[in-house]
Amino acid sequence: MIPADEAEAIILSHSTRLNPLDDQETLALTAAQGRVLAVDVQSKLDFPHWDNSAMDGYAVRYEDVKHSSADTPVRLEVIEEIPAGYQPQKTLQPGQCARIFTGAIVPDGADTIVIQEDTQQDQPTTTAPDPNVSILAAPKFQAFVRHKAAFYQAGEPLLQAGCQLAAADIAVLAAAQCATVTVYRRPRVAILSTGDELVPIDQPLQAGQIVDSNQYALAALVKAAGAEPICLGIVPDDREKLRQAIAHACTTADIILSSGGVSVGDYDYVDPILAELGAEIHIRAVAVKPGKPLTVATVHNPTSQIPTVLYFGLPGNPVSAMVSFWRFVQPAIRKLSGLTSGWSPVFIQSTTCDELRSGGKRETYLWGQVRLVDGQHQFHLAGGSHSSGNLINLAQTNGLAVVPIGQTQIAAGETVQIMLVGTPYGA
Ligand code: AMP
Ligand code: MG
Repeated sequence: MIPADEAEAIILSHSTRLNPLDDQETLALTAAQGRVLAVDVQSKLDFPHWDNSAMDGYAVRYEDVKHSSADTPVRLEVIEEIPAGYQPQKTLQPGQCARIFTGAIVPDGADTIVIQEDTQQDQPTTTAPDPNVSILAAPKFQAFVRHKAAFYQAGEPLLQAGCQLAAADIAVLAAAQCATVTVYRRPRVAILSTGDELVPIDQPLQAGQIVDSNQYALAALVKAAGAEPICLGIVPDDREKLRQAIAHACTTADIILSSGGVSVGDYDYVDPILAELGAEIHIRAVAVKPGKPLTVATVHNPTSQIPTVLYFGLPGNPVSAMVSFWRFVQPAIRKLSGLTSGWSPVFIQSTTCDELRSGGKRETYLWGQVRLVDGQHQFHLAGGSHSSGNLINLAQTNGLAVVPIGQTQIAAGETVQIMLVGTPYGA
């Protein structure tokens, strides 16, 4: 049995990132949310594209207005009106200004914007028939001018390969006129369930049978991790059938997840079959609860399109399978998917509102809800049994409190590490 951290490090060392050249696809930007960029992106555009105004007001020459005040206003001739989207036609001469609106191009000759709140429009008179404006306050030099290329210079890196595209990135790519983007393909993850007691969701249950809920749980987790699940169904506890199913699975996907059959029971065939298939077994058990029996192996298929697959033999218990996924499988998927960082689960500090207990021999994960109250994370232990066979109270879990090895209790009110598996709720 090895500690969880060590197991994660071994898993990551055997998780090979997809190849940015072979394993890429080009998608419409609208379809790229959540995907991982496979190439660096640059833009040929500067941001801003031109000097533009950050406010509604007047584009002026600083020299003209630097001494203006409410008592000694400076009067300027308004030579042009420049709304957003228009190209200015004139160049400002001394004593002139242009009416300008947010986002509009600053005209040649102007270097500063005076916000309209600091101005007063003068009525045309017979002696001064052209529109005029009085500047009532001295602006700072270059005030409210957003200079061309101040935010980004054409040709510099805009987004780097290996980043996951969220809404803000989509916005940046859209502004840069990237209508399509090249991303890594999603990793493929095959899921198979082992056990004579398992039946599909829609089959009436006979005595001793249960629904293969792991197939659903793992498919949902795989999708949430950004990968593509390939559901291979139920395999009975029959060594030959399981051998065939595992051998087939290894030709279909980058990662294989089987659940069940990795303990030391008479029907636990996964490890011997992997050994028979020539797999290298890296992990057989991890000092965590739930989820102690965990097989991690690499299977080599020299003749297949996928020469090496990473195999996870997860425990059958539904809670153990999910906790093992969150703790150990997700980092492997995230690394494979091309992400350059952020593979590991997120652990946060929280105050526990309930007493937490553990046997002390294994790192223990207790499920519940994390809420953010007055800026502090609070952990509420799920009510009911924390047996790994009890799936029911796992519903609505967004965090797992971690009781370290050697510790048997954490009192209510104390600080605990939480592995986040969802978003903390507000109060
Ligand atoms: P095993 O690891 O095969 O000994 O299974 C441990 C426990 O998990 C047993 O109670 C199984 O019935 C249950 N189990 C195994 N596979 C699944 C599955 N796919 N869905 C739901 N429960 C399962
Ligand atoms: Mg079984």
